[in-house]
Amino acid sequence: MKIKDLSLAGLKESLSSGEMKSTELTRFYLDCIGERETDVNAFLHIDEKYALAKANSANCPNSPLCGIPIAIKDVLMVDGMPATAGSKILEGYMPPFTATAVKKLEDAGMVIVGKTNTDEFAMGSSTENSAYGVTHNPWNLDRVPGGSSGGSAAAVAAGMVPVALGSDTGGSVRQPASYCGISGIKPTYGRISRYGLSAYGSSLDSIGVLARSVADIIPVFKTMVGKDPLDATSVESPTTPRRLPDAESLKGTRIGVPKEYFVEGTQVEVAGAVREAIQEFKKMGAEIIPISLPHTEYAIPAYYILASAEASANLARFDGIRYTQREGADTLAEVYNQTRGKLFGEEVKRRIMLGTYALSAGYYDAFYGQAQKVRTLIRRDFEDAFTKVDAIATPVAPTTAFKIGAHGDDPLSMYLEDIFTLPANLAGVPGLALPVGFDDANMPIGMQLMGTRFSEELLFDIGKIYQRETSWHEMKPKMAR
Ligand code: GLN
Repeated sequence: MKIKDLSLAGLKESLSSGEMKSTELTRFYLDCIGERETDVNAFLHIDEKYALAKANSANCPNSPLCGIPIAIKDVLMVDGMPATAGSKILEGYMPPFTATAVKKLEDAGMVIVGKTNTDEFAMGSSTENSAYGVTHNPWNLDRVPGGSSGGSAAAVAAGMVPVALGSDTGGSVRQPASYCGISGIKPTYGRISRYGLSAYGSSLDSIGVLARSVADIIPVFKTMVGKDPLDATSVESPTTPRRLPDAESLKGTRIGVPKEYFVEGTQVEVAGAVREAIQEFKKMGAEIIPISLPHTEYAIPAYYILASAEASANLARFDGIRYTQREGADTLAEVYNQTRGKLFGEEVKRRIMLGTYALSAGYYDAFYGQAQKVRTLIRRDFEDAFTKVDAIATPVAPTTAFKIGAHGDDPLSMYLEDIFTLPANLAGVPGLALPVGFDDANMPIGMQLMGTRFSEELLFDIGKIYQRETSWHEMKPKMAR
């Protein structure tokens, strides 16, 4: 089998047996990047020397990830590599430390090849908000890869790396995975340390994994989980994770289908492909149960108030003094104008203004307070649902990848694309995106499986069985064949 068709386990096997060296494997991916990067623009930083040196020194026979290349979204800090978070305000910033999640992967012998493109500070759904140019969808270069982890998703789909890290505050791992025809996990809030992740909405942010299959996600996910003294919100994983009652089929598994996720406005082919996948689950033995998550329609307004409020506080650290450069500013106003004024993009400024407004004394109760209450209602919707079902199946997004520029000057129409992914972040539950088909324009369609908190292993079990019986995850865009 060729390298590009091997799973992570297959790569590990060829490395362990001595059939291939990690330097050769790394060279292979660096060459793929070299060939495709001009078209795709998935990377903000590529470090050949660093990667080859790491590959050369990888000596960790017991790690399933030893010597395997990975790309890291540019919102995560890696000592020795610049981190911009897709923003001009961080241009040239070299973090003096490595994010805990990344450190764990490095300790397991993974080889970081570079940093991937992202919407500025992960605010967006298309990677068009990056200050360093848009990333192109490998399935059709005129279309967005989704976002904000669009660089990571495109890199995996284009075969430039076997796996990549992303972050997900309201869908940023699942939606680009779906748009690029790959798999992606947004874990339970707190399951992976956020230390070293550029903070966007701290009560919503999670680090996630993007790969071609669920089987490839698992070892990377497992290596990163657990309590970290550097992140007070991180938690230990349960000692006995939830699993399927029957490892070989979906017998005894109850899958809920919420009516609020199959509404008008969803692309017909998307709803169709997801319904077909649900039929597959039924054939594999699952019991399909119609459910309701009644507060779904309030997720968008609640999320955009809460995420913006948290962002406005988190981004206050970019005060023009501790980060970035400026020239000859004498007054505080000049310092701000030259830094925050000039170097934040439009979307980031919009979020800061929205968030500051929602938090201001006169409006706090009406906006922030109200949004927090809505969040509780959404969390309760899920708690109720998970007394009846083990997992919930929905589309990842109402449409497939749209054309670059399609949402142009209409941020609200872009926010509406997030309707199916935001609730999982508001509730803190995990969501797994899986490819389940293609639309008429040959763009990939994704299904989302959500579970109760700490049920990632169960979602992986379902995803693995689905991918054992179907081949959507094996489809590749032309450039990666
Ligand atoms: N599109 C959403 C936003 O712009 C989600 C982004 C994310 O998950 N980082 O906030």
